[in-house]
Amino acid sequence: MNFTNKYLSELMERVIARNPGEKEFHQAVREVLESLEPVVEKHPEYVEKGVLESIVEPERIIKFRVPWVDDSGTVRVNRGFRVQFNSAIGPYKGGLRFHPSVYEGIIKFLGFEQIFKNSLTGLPIGGGKGGSDFDPKGKSDMEVMRFCQSFMTELAKHIGSYTDIPAGDIGVGGREIGYLFGQYKRIINKFSGVLTGKGLEYGGSLARTEATGFGLCYFTDAMLRAHNDSFVGKTIVVSGSGNVAIYATQKATELGGKVVALSDSNGYIYDKNGVDLALVKQLKEVERKRIKEYLNVHPEAEYHEGCKGIWTIKCDIALPCATQNEIDKESADILVANGCKAVAEGANMPSTPEAIETFLANGILFGPAKAANAGGVATSALEMSQNSIRGSWTFEEVDARLKEIMENIYANASSAAEEYGLKGNLVAGANIAGFIKVANAMLEQGIV
Ligand code: NDP
Repeated sequence: MNFTNKYLSELMERVIARNPGEKEFHQAVREVLESLEPVVEKHPEYVEKGVLESIVEPERIIKFRVPWVDDSGTVRVNRGFRVQFNSAIGPYKGGLRFHPSVYEGIIKFLGFEQIFKNSLTGLPIGGGKGGSDFDPKGKSDMEVMRFCQSFMTELAKHIGSYTDIPAGDIGVGGREIGYLFGQYKRIINKFSGVLTGKGLEYGGSLARTEATGFGLCYFTDAMLRAHNDSFVGKTIVVSGSGNVAIYATQKATELGGKVVALSDSNGYIYDKNGVDLALVKQLKEVERKRIKEYLNVHPEAEYHEGCKGIWTIKCDIALPCATQNEIDKESADILVANGCKAVAEGANMPSTPEAIETFLANGILFGPAKAANAGGVATSALEMSQNSIRGSWTFEEVDARLKEIMENIYANASSAAEEYGLKGNLVAGANIAGFIKVANAMLEQGIV
């Protein structure tokens, strides 16, 4: 789609010129600005008061050296980032990603998305994101610990429980959060809820580990139910086999579906009997092994090298839970041809713009990431609440709140789409609903 609104078109050009080479960031901004065309027609004040101009510019970018020593005694140097994008409705909140592909453009795209996602949760959290090009894969626990300690030694100066509260993302799970928290506490000499996704022994919330995957399924279930359908009896393909994929598989199965495929960055498994989730958890969460090891226990399953082939498996529901741009137009065409009815994004921006167009044009129910995967950050905000009251809620209590939040997100995105003449388009609905709250807060706070 091209812009019909001249201001938005020029703003997009300025974003590209100001952030050269950051293609993921451009993609994320373009999608939001395109959705906002009907909003700026109705509310010219967002243009006149510079809200749009400001919202595409991070409030602060922190970029730093992360030196550490590997097990052989060699000094290694990585690069760390924290993009504090928008604090209009609350302190910056968003995960840390440790992956070799990380550079400023990836963190900006994720931070930008986070603004609207966090707004959609209805909780008082602003948008931020961080990370490093460090690859935890193949590193010893001690190497990961030394890296995390060095990373936090700089990051600690910029975060705080009322300033910026990081969490996990790709490559940052419970182990990394533990090392980061330990170092923060040592530097600041304060036990505070500065990170979420903490261990249950030191301030973590029950159901946080499960939250993004569970939330994705609660959202998808709400979307299906609104169309008189459900997970029951459905064949499901889930990409990835990390935190989001594992708990999406668990909840989709509990809701009556059968997950037949999972992947990692090397390849994918297909088990027509339904994947053995206990085995996947053991391989991925405990042993940190590759997904192909699944066949050692289930030789009747198939393993294929490469990630893209997973979308050629016939399914009713696709849940991409690995990484950005993992479904391109070709894969989207195959999903449509194979009769897929619904796609909901567990990963951030896993579908290319052309893939999304294909889904929408073919009447596929499509749940965009910033709505569908908001359960993780929502539960992180619930962890912050529990830390503030120095208490903890039961698993059932947190899970019930998560479910309610996801159902509200579906309802709000759906009604925003309808209000702006785009009924059924949850991409536009989520962008609009997320934007309006932040934009109004920015207007009320003046030019800051
Ligand atoms: P994990 O690190 O736990 O798992 C990531 C999974 O995706 C792994 O199976 C990994 O394979 C695979 N993967 C990563 N990069 C690539 C790649 N370039 N190509 C193919 N596969 C890849 O991360 P999460 O499960 O936490 O995150 C997955 C997605 O969900 C990300 O987009 C993240 O931003 C998003 N998300 C996560 C939230 C959370 O609470 N954790 C919240 C909201 C969104 P391998 O092991 O081989 O690298």
